[in-house]
Amino acid sequence: MTLPEHGRSRDEVVADLTARHASDLPTHGGRTWAYVYDSGLADLDPVMDSARSMYAAVNGLDPTVFSSIVGLENEVVGTVLDLVRAPEGSVGTFTSGGTESCMLAVKAARDARRDVERPNIVAPTTVHAAFVKACEYFGVEMRFVPVDHSTFRADPAAMDAACDSSTVLVVCSAVSYAHGVVDPVPEIASAASGRGIPCHVDGCIGGWVLAWYRSIGIDVPEWDFTVDGVTSISVDLHKYAYASKGASTLLFRDPAMRRASYFASADWPGYAMINTTMQSTKSAGPLAAAWAAFQHVGADGYAELAQRTYDATRALIERIGAIDGLRILGVPDASLVAVASDDDAVDVFVVADETRARGWYLQPQFAYLDLPRNLHLTVTAASLANVDPLIADLEASVAAAREIPSAAPAPELVEVARNLDPDTLSREEFAGLLAFAGLDPSAVSGQGLPERMAGVNHLLEAMPPRLRERILSEFLGLLYSPTRG
Ligand SMILES: *Cc1c(COP(=O)(O)O)cnc(C)c1O
Repeated sequence: MTLPEHGRSRDEVVADLTARHASDLPTHGGRTWAYVYDSGLADLDPVMDSARSMYAAVNGLDPTVFSSIVGLENEVVGTVLDLVRAPEGSVGTFTSGGTESCMLAVKAARDARRDVERPNIVAPTTVHAAFVKACEYFGVEMRFVPVDHSTFRADPAAMDAACDSSTVLVVCSAVSYAHGVVDPVPEIASAASGRGIPCHVDGCIGGWVLAWYRSIGIDVPEWDFTVDGVTSISVDLHKYAYASKGASTLLFRDPAMRRASYFASADWPGYAMINTTMQSTKSAGPLAAAWAAFQHVGADGYAELAQRTYDATRALIERIGAIDGLRILGVPDASLVAVASDDDAVDVFVVADETRARGWYLQPQFAYLDLPRNLHLTVTAASLANVDPLIADLEASVAAAREIPSAAPAPELVEVARNLDPDTLSREEFAGLLAFAGLDPSAVSGQGLPERMAGVNHLLEAMPPRLRERILSEFLGLLYSPTRG
């Protein structure tokens, strides 16, 4: 067994973990421009660590036994309701993350309309994949509607036209992950409301930032509960509220709709299982940490963090836009920036590799329908100090990329990839494809994936989404091969 025969000391265990963790990308310091959120506040982590460990073993399953969690959740949810200007009587739930918030929004909409036999939801193609996941898990049809290909915003008229009597929810984003723009929420919500359909605004990543931008006097599009017809909103706390991971909120204008997001079963011999979220037994650690973050940072602190995030985003937009060969996609409304190339000699996937070699992580985003490939940057409060060094390295990376031929695969290869049917390929054939694509699962646990990923990214991009899903699932399946004794 890989379980040690005799237990190891605390020091040994921590030293082992520290060594393992060394190969991860840095979560602090602002050099990793996706996945992580750094407030730059030195004391915030220790405050959250204390709160999280105090509540780690508290079971959020039963608030009547662990009664202090009720107050923590009510204060956290109430704070976010105030921020998004929810009317009196609005309610919410603390969840484990954005995906859970989005999934519960879809479950609520489905279960509020038990009369609909084959429910569907209508959403722009830029909506987060969490909604596709919800549809798949809950047996709901997803109706995707293309977005405007220059603003990357949803098209309200086309969304309205996609609705029918079986539409149980209309979804839009504030902001979208890929392009960082706010959809035309008032038009979308008003059309949905006219049909009696609820409208969810996914503010998982943008909601917190947009609310604080507005409060410090920065102009933002209308998107929150002050918009008629908006019935629910998701806002993550483990993103821009800088709470530790496992923290999001799902907010409802109408308590009856929240009730439809709950699960209840008293129909078994054990305890009556009444769950507000998808998890049942769950640690109250993330809730306590989020509450502690609110207390420690405070309103003036969050306003300051929002100002720094805004300043960093404006500076980046201006200076990246001035780099010959690069352009910003659309007009970012919050703090996410998508950088594309308008020059055939500059392959953005190669630029990503070049910046990686210089100690940064920018996230490659594949071309999708008529939306161009680009690099994603999540800007945080800790990014401000990194603007100058990033720009210098980005300029050098673009110059270097001009000297390197594009990593795009040969057209014959693209044609082969297009015609592969993921449903008929065997495991062995997938393993061969992975090796061919340059994806070696055994490398990940060692030194990590190859330094240069541009070729892999182009090949993946050239595959139809279904094939890409399958090949990456096979990859993950191989990655998670249990270590046995
Ligand atoms: C991050 C994100 C989600 C999903 O949140 P997770 O916390 O990663 O589960 C949903 N919607 C948007 C717009 C996001 O950016």
